[in-house]
Amino acid sequence: QDDEMAAEGTEVDEVERASDVWVFLEEHAGDVMPVAWELLTEGRRLADDLGEDLVALAIGEDLEDVATEALARGADRVLVADDPVFEPYRADPYGTQFREMVERRHPSIVLIGGTHTGRDFAGRVAVPAHAGLTADVTELDVDEDGQLLARRPAFGGNVLATIVCPEHRPQMATVRAGVFEAADPDPDELATLRATDDSIADNDRIEPVEVFIDEVDTISEVLVRDVTERADVTDADRLVAVGGGVEGDLGPAIELAEALDADLAASRKAVDEGWIEGARQVGQTGKTVRPDLYVALGISGAIQHVEGMNDAGTVIAINDDPNAPIFDHADYGIVGDLFEVVPQLTALLEGD
Ligand code: FAD
Repeated sequence: QDDEMAAEGTEVDEVERASDVWVFLEEHAGDVMPVAWELLTEGRRLADDLGEDLVALAIGEDLEDVATEALARGADRVLVADDPVFEPYRADPYGTQFREMVERRHPSIVLIGGTHTGRDFAGRVAVPAHAGLTADVTELDVDEDGQLLARRPAFGGNVLATIVCPEHRPQMATVRAGVFEAADPDPDELATLRATDDSIADNDRIEPVEVFIDEVDTISEVLVRDVTERADVTDADRLVAVGGGVEGDLGPAIELAEALDADLAASRKAVDEGWIEGARQVGQTGKTVRPDLYVALGISGAIQHVEGMNDAGTVIAINDDPNAPIFDHADYGIVGDLFEVVPQLTALLEGD
């Protein structure tokens, strides 16, 4: 019983201590997703109802413009985690960074766009923080106790369920795009901010925060960026595609891609695991690619994947399972452990 009371005490403290409405400003290479501005407008209304601050949270690289626009669109403050490690998007650095910030600052409400990216990392924040996360929300409100009422369609859209999270903070939600209207930025404020604030350091409403990259698996960061900065996978002449078999270690694939002057692609498994961004997924729910060369590393060859690469010129598959279906679609197959085979192949290509 003592334990129960202690636990209850912790919960009450957690609820009482939490304050402020946070909105995640999802941006990719400087372009902010419209849902982020929609949430900022909705977050402003909730923060005013609660009498709390509206805090925008930006994670990425070169975020000055995004941060100043967030202020002109109603944020009281902007927290900025600005580092090259966050470009392009990967679930691990984002999830770790976001989780650390939540755990150290105790927001009451956290709103994230229900985009591929938002859905990808929201759970990685909510689970370790023991926070309630409501997905695919279409209406938001707060009750007289300051509790978030997150509404979402349920039972095939037949009812609108209201989900509350009475005991833990933050109250998190991923919110469907397009259901709220974004207010325009205040043009005078935007002009003033842009004229006076050349850098994040000049504005005391914009707070650069510590970047927690040490706790992140940053696998050959420099190489990742070189390869991933290249064009869209649908334009690539050569692709090295990674699947479940790489188990999160993109190193050998990146080195092979460098040696072949190829781009990186991926199966859905590699994307779902957060090892590589979704834009590189090949298949039914990803991109259809037609490169001259497609090297499949640790990819089983599920029909949904093959659908996206069946028109590739030469296909080379490396898989440790001789019965993997990918071999039915390959011109050359190597049965073996990719962690042994791929470095040898790369060394041969480099003439070592
Ligand atoms: P896994 O199934 O995990 O296979 C890993 C492979 O690597 C295995 O063959 C294994 O033998 C091999 N391996 C393991 N370790 C090693 C090693 N050390 N060396 C060499 N080989 C190794 N999938 C897509 O890719 N794209 C899509 O667009 C897509 N859309 C889908 C849409 C729907 C509606 C559904 C239901 C599924 C979709 N999928 C899609 C998922 C698809 O069905 C498979 O689950 C997915 O392609 C599996 O990815 P994988 O082969 O990389 O991983």
